[in-house]
Amino acid sequence: MEIRLVKLTKTFPGDEKKNVSETKAVDSLTLNIENGTLLGLLGPSGCGKSTTLYMLAGLKDPTSGEIWFDDEEVTNLEAEKRGIGLVFQNYALYPHMTVYKNIAFPLTNLKVYTEKRCEKAVRIQKAIAILEEPERLRKAVLESQCDGKIKKENAVLYVAKEFHVSRFIAADVLKEIGGIAKNEESAYKDAKSKFAAHLESLKKRLSASKDPIDEAFYYLNEKGERRMDTRRLTRDEIDSLVRDVSRLVQIEELLERKPSELSGGQQQRVAIARALVKKPKLLLLDEPLSNLDARLRLKTREEIRRIQRETGITTVFVTHDQDEAMAICDRIVLMKDGKSRQVGKPQDVYRDPNDLFVAKFLGNPPINVFEGIVDDGYVHIGGEKVLPVPIEGYREVFVGIRPEAFLLEDAEKDGKGTFLQGIDPTVCGHLTVDIEQIQASGKDIALIGNHPSFVGDQLKITIDSEAQVSPGVHSFLLRPSKIYLFDRKTEERIRF
Ligand code: ATP
Repeated sequence: MEIRLVKLTKTFPGDEKKNVSETKAVDSLTLNIENGTLLGLLGPSGCGKSTTLYMLAGLKDPTSGEIWFDDEEVTNLEAEKRGIGLVFQNYALYPHMTVYKNIAFPLTNLKVYTEKRCEKAVRIQKAIAILEEPERLRKAVLESQCDGKIKKENAVLYVAKEFHVSRFIAADVLKEIGGIAKNEESAYKDAKSKFAAHLESLKKRLSASKDPIDEAFYYLNEKGERRMDTRRLTRDEIDSLVRDVSRLVQIEELLERKPSELSGGQQQRVAIARALVKKPKLLLLDEPLSNLDARLRLKTREEIRRIQRETGITTVFVTHDQDEAMAICDRIVLMKDGKSRQVGKPQDVYRDPNDLFVAKFLGNPPINVFEGIVDDGYVHIGGEKVLPVPIEGYREVFVGIRPEAFLLEDAEKDGKGTFLQGIDPTVCGHLTVDIEQIQASGKDIALIGNHPSFVGDQLKITIDSEAQVSPGVHSFLLRPSKIYLFDRKTEERIRF
């Protein structure tokens, strides 16, 4: 489903008595979310991400603007009618229910309008179909063995999975063949004849009634057409849906546990399964990883990506963690003060930021920002000529230099570096930095430095771990493509 937000605005009124001023949480946000994509809403705390998500969900009313789902305007449509799956950071599972019941819960009151069928006949037919493949059935039962023993519950689940039926049908079949230990040919035959006889008598009874059924067990009206009916889902249908979605998020073996018996990551998978079980057209995830530890966050975000790809559900993912958004989103929206500052593919926004805020928000370690000027066709930082630029006149600027832009000049001159090969040294940047500390971290070395014109928390440079470097003043070459200029007043990018 394609989503369109048109000048979407949410204002929370102020309260003079409490000295609270009005807040424009979302300010004229216009955005297109393409069908099947994973969009990240990214930005610092309070920028309006959650408010945007809640308006999409129908849990908060917009002050003005429109929300469109494909060709339908849903701005004022109730939440339940929007076909949305929602996952919060604090999984919000029901503690007294098993995982199975938690996932099944959204389905229990769900009404569907469909052609009316004799579900009993369908079940018997499915049981017969299983018994028509005795070898496959036997194999599924044997595969369910645990420590050399066949347990009934396990066997039921294996058969249900193998034949893609509910566990109730699988249990009926296993009961009828007289326990799982008895695998004799005759038990299968007997069971099959019993189900077949049962089906025949049911068919007879139904065709004699005033609502006859067709060969696929649908009820027919007087004109011989299939009858429509509003009904709840059957327990077989619920079971299939719960099992399908549990397989998708890989928690099949946890279905009988209570939430308190699961890890945080597993609980979050259950919450995702519960959001997906109704097959929503839009999945909304509000900081779903923030309660997980670092390792689990990495794993679970990849899982979310996989699940999103497999289902193809249009998904909006709210996070304040740029690494997370960069890693899994097709596109990101970087928000500030309720407004979208930039939208695009994560790498494109990183490589080509529109302003200083975007440049500073994306990148880990963050971009290094210096006060500088442009004069005489050169960028200057402190007294140093940093880079030739085709810009005329005098301008006060912020110079943003990505940590990976820096290369030790000595290493390049010694031929130990890799940068200068094939690159004209006159177009490189130059900067002298006082290095105070050296931190080794895997494939890179981080140099913590000092510079009088640096503005920010920490000047951090990353270089290849092969490089030999000691604290002190060093001259660096700079990759020009990783140097950005911003107007000192407006903080807008100055392109060159
Ligand atoms: P965080 O990452 O901290 O969750 P966020 O980007 O999701 O932040 P929102 O929760 O959307 O931000 O809030 C946006 C702004 O709206 C904030 O300034 C917040 O204080 C304000 N706000 C949110 N809900 C209300 C409310 N019910 N009443 C008044 N102000 C609100």
